[in-house]
Amino acid sequence: MYKGAGNSIGIAIGNALVIREQAQEIVRKQVDDCAMEAQRLDAAVQKAKEQIEVLLEKANEELGEDQALIFETHLAYLEDPGYIGKVYGMIEEECVNAEWALEVVTEQLAAIFRASGGDVIAERVDDIRDVARRITNALLNIEEPGEGNVPGLEASIVLVADHLLPSELMRMDLKRIVGIVTQSGGTTTHVAIIAKSRNIPAVMGVAGVLANVKTDDVVALDAKKGVVEISPDERALAGYREAIAKNKKTAELLRPYIGMDAVLSNQKRILVEANIAYPEDAAIALQNGADGVGLFRSEFLYLERATEPGEEEQFAAYQSVAKRMQGRPVIIRTMDIGGDKPAPYLNLPKENNPFLGYRAIRICLDREELFRNQLRAILRASAFGKVLIMLPMISALEELIKAKAVIGKVKEQLRQENIAFDPGIEVGIMIETPAAVMLSDALAAEADFFSIGTNDLIQYTTAVDRMNERVAHLYSPYHPAVLRQIALTVKNAHARGIPVGVCGEAAGDAKLVPVLLGLGVDALSMNPHGIPAVKKTVCTGSAEAFEELAGQVLKMTTIEQIKKKLGEIG
Ligand code: PEP
Ligand code: MG
Repeated sequence: MYKGAGNSIGIAIGNALVIREQAQEIVRKQVDDCAMEAQRLDAAVQKAKEQIEVLLEKANEELGEDQALIFETHLAYLEDPGYIGKVYGMIEEECVNAEWALEVVTEQLAAIFRASGGDVIAERVDDIRDVARRITNALLNIEEPGEGNVPGLEASIVLVADHLLPSELMRMDLKRIVGIVTQSGGTTTHVAIIAKSRNIPAVMGVAGVLANVKTDDVVALDAKKGVVEISPDERALAGYREAIAKNKKTAELLRPYIGMDAVLSNQKRILVEANIAYPEDAAIALQNGADGVGLFRSEFLYLERATEPGEEEQFAAYQSVAKRMQGRPVIIRTMDIGGDKPAPYLNLPKENNPFLGYRAIRICLDREELFRNQLRAILRASAFGKVLIMLPMISALEELIKAKAVIGKVKEQLRQENIAFDPGIEVGIMIETPAAVMLSDALAAEADFFSIGTNDLIQYTTAVDRMNERVAHLYSPYHPAVLRQIALTVKNAHARGIPVGVCGEAAGDAKLVPVLLGLGVDALSMNPHGIPAVKKTVCTGSAEAFEELAGQVLKMTTIEQIKKKLGEIG
């Protein structure tokens, strides 16, 4: 039995897939003989083909034709002139290594799939990545992990790794993963957040687990309690199974709230919105009853690729979300690269303190071209729905003023080109640094709305790195200094008549939601799967009781007191 921090998604049982090494970083290399390089690719493609044929046969036997179709698709990619043909073409034209050509072509194709949106498209992205990973492994002589018993086909892999980057997770076939266990990292790392949005239980920061688990071991994890058990006995397994069934029942009971408006007992409407990372997540948001997208983490469009996403590609992504949300607000956060989200093609310098460094709005104001491209795409998408712009990591009023000036210039340019956009598009900011909280009166005069990013606000307020499991016990949304900052932000926003939401993980925390409502927040944006439960809290609680609770909590001075108080009701 191991302990860590869970992402609250529930319980999973599956077979371990242990990743002991970091994925290879693919770099561009010039080769002397491109014909030889093409032959290297021939051999790798052949090896991949043989592996897939084995899987296909087994899948046909054990699971039937429907399920086996996925491997037919994988085989087809190996012969597709529009895919593998382009890889050969790039090797011939540019005389580069096969791994690089494969990566570039795969990402181009994945970007095209992704930009066009849709669930089926998302699966195609998974498929193409799966094929590319297999060929890359063959090129690099890396053995395919634990494929002997076709683990994914029962959709029961628990990924166990020391450390996972969002890009590494997204490279995997998420349909096959039922749980994630990492030795390092915490629950607000982006891997934990992505897992949450895909409804995958994850336990992070589980010290020592790798030394005692091997691929195919049965692993059970409870992401609410933050526990992981390797090879549990029959009795324990029965307990986990029972808990899984109970969770399913709870989800059933929450189902009626999906279609409801969240209205407090004092008739105030609360927007309960979704945090999304990819255009296709909009479908998950709607399925769960989202009143809008409160945070579109647009930087995910910039990750795991070889080149910057162009204006057209971004426009297609934003437009698809705006259209799908059918007039509901869609808050697109301008890219928040840096911190734990690197983008190698931007050549960002290696930093000792990336979370205190060249990140988000700081990059955008420094590299205006990059910023303008994104703003053009967002503004163009604003003609297709209700789109809002949100600026991340604001720590000074000057940043907001400068960013607004750039937005003004981009609007002017679009006007001259006769390109449609919403001229009244709202521009808001994230409140995620203590500086922004302390300046929230002045910022409220310039911003159309606030959204409190508790994930970063906690880390910057308490000087606790949100990625560092050694200090994870100090990282708490129940910290009185954090809650008092939220109160001050709401007060200053409302004094200026602008709305304020919360879009960090705290917005979906069952114990904290009553406090946030009592403090007067107007919107809560979270992992889409958390929406029905939060709507229930809003609809069934008493606004007066929430206010009283918030008043009591604000007087408290320790995390322990606050936790105890909220534990009584949560
Ligand atoms: C936050 O900091 O709370 C937030 C929502 O942004 P991110 O988690 O993407 O940094
Ligand atoms: Mg943040």
